[in-house]
Amino acid sequence: MPILRFAPSPTGALHLGGLRMALYNHLYAKKHGGKWILRIEDTDATRFVPGAVDGIRRALEWAGLEYDYGPGKGGPHAPYFQSERLDLYQSYSTKLLLSGQAYRCFCSVDTLTALREKFARTGSGQSYDRRCLHLPEEEVARRVRAGETYVVRLDTSALRPRRTINDLVFGQLRDAHGSLATDPVLLKSDGYPTYHLANVVDDHAMGVTHVLRGVEWITSLPLHLDIYGALGLEPPEFAHIPILVNPDGSKMSKRNGDVKVEDYIRRGWERDAILNWLALPGWGTQHEASEEQADPSVEFRKEAPESTKVMDLKELISEFDISALTHRSASLDPAKLTYLNRQHLLRAAATDEGLGDVARRVRLWIKENPALSEMNPEYTTPEYIQSVIRVLNSRLTNIQDIVTLAPYLFVEPDYGSAEAKRMIRRLSKEQYNEILSNVYSVLADLDAASWDAPKLLEAMNKEKEAKGTPTNMFLPAVRHAMTAMKDGPPVAELMVVLGSSRTLARIKAAMS
Ligand code: GLU
Repeated sequence: MPILRFAPSPTGALHLGGLRMALYNHLYAKKHGGKWILRIEDTDATRFVPGAVDGIRRALEWAGLEYDYGPGKGGPHAPYFQSERLDLYQSYSTKLLLSGQAYRCFCSVDTLTALREKFARTGSGQSYDRRCLHLPEEEVARRVRAGETYVVRLDTSALRPRRTINDLVFGQLRDAHGSLATDPVLLKSDGYPTYHLANVVDDHAMGVTHVLRGVEWITSLPLHLDIYGALGLEPPEFAHIPILVNPDGSKMSKRNGDVKVEDYIRRGWERDAILNWLALPGWGTQHEASEEQADPSVEFRKEAPESTKVMDLKELISEFDISALTHRSASLDPAKLTYLNRQHLLRAAATDEGLGDVARRVRLWIKENPALSEMNPEYTTPEYIQSVIRVLNSRLTNIQDIVTLAPYLFVEPDYGSAEAKRMIRRLSKEQYNEILSNVYSVLADLDAASWDAPKLLEAMNKEKEAKGTPTNMFLPAVRHAMTAMKDGPPVAELMVVLGSSRTLARIKAAMS
């Protein structure tokens, strides 16, 4: 059974790249009947950010990426915080010391800095002169006993030949034969392991069969293979995943903003849209185009059609094929997120359960938004919000647009706005009032059972034709009265959402 792991360092909030890595681990594990571990790589105390682990767990939970083993869950290889596994790393380090494949180095920071500077000047690529490699055993024992601090270095002169590695994304890796820094440190002077030792030891100890990680780690692969070799361990399979870039090819980084998952959650994006958006770049080419991709006007559609395929987590799992991932860095286009978000909202709104869920989140957002908390409670009932979502339909690209898109469904229309005035600039006040008072009488005569969009439309059309009112006067007047906004869903549908008494009151108010 495949065992994978997502191994973030708790150095801050989870960002999109991290979530994508967790997603790919989840997709691979679930596709192949495997499990995945959340492992917290917290051996660098200087970069530890309090609260980061909770933030990572919250983001994973929001995304529906449930790990099988890890913090809060336990599992056969607990603990899942590296800082709680120091004995294990030390025992592996001792093993290497005893087998003569590692040695203690007592050099001070100053000595090492001077050496590095010297080598940098000669351009030899070396970083250390191995002066502690051949210290006599008695001297080592004496200095350890005397409490001198030391690091443990891998003796790269004692390495076995490295095996060729076939990366699941990059294929045969020639770089796996690259050279290492001179005798890299495995255990630091404070007893903490370096990332490399801890990573290899844990992947082995936790039974990890597949390492899916960012391509930035591909340069560490030679060292990792050497550590596996020195310990006599079988390395797992590796898949290095190309990094995410901005649409212009520039690197996405935390500094550029817009990369924290929590910001996307706060801004109301659908979780399925985010996962879909993160999964697709580099997705490969063998996937079928979907029906919804007909609009050639949007820039990103110039890409392969599969790059906008709308999929939820279940579909992503069934479609995932690691061998189809491309080597190119993957670009994240915000326009594509908007598109996917709308598609996922439409999908959700097409089922009672999905609609109920979207409405629940809209209500929560309204409740938590101080600017909206004054809203008339009648307009925040589940039924009302559901009817608003239904009427806005494909106009809604993000649930938080609901109030700006159709403010008139929540507060009275703003007849004083410039847009409202422009709408009826061709009508005199008399013409406007006449149209509306006629519409009022017709609608007031309808019984409750007739208050549906086709009947409302029919009644208004009849009235318009009977009086011979031109459409380009009639429609703006009615839309103006109902919404004071130029664009929006069909007026008859809005009247259904508003209900008869609100509709009639609104027409009256508009005439005054
Ligand atoms: N702790 C590393 C990081 O946060 C993980 C590297 C790996 O997956 O091997 O990037």
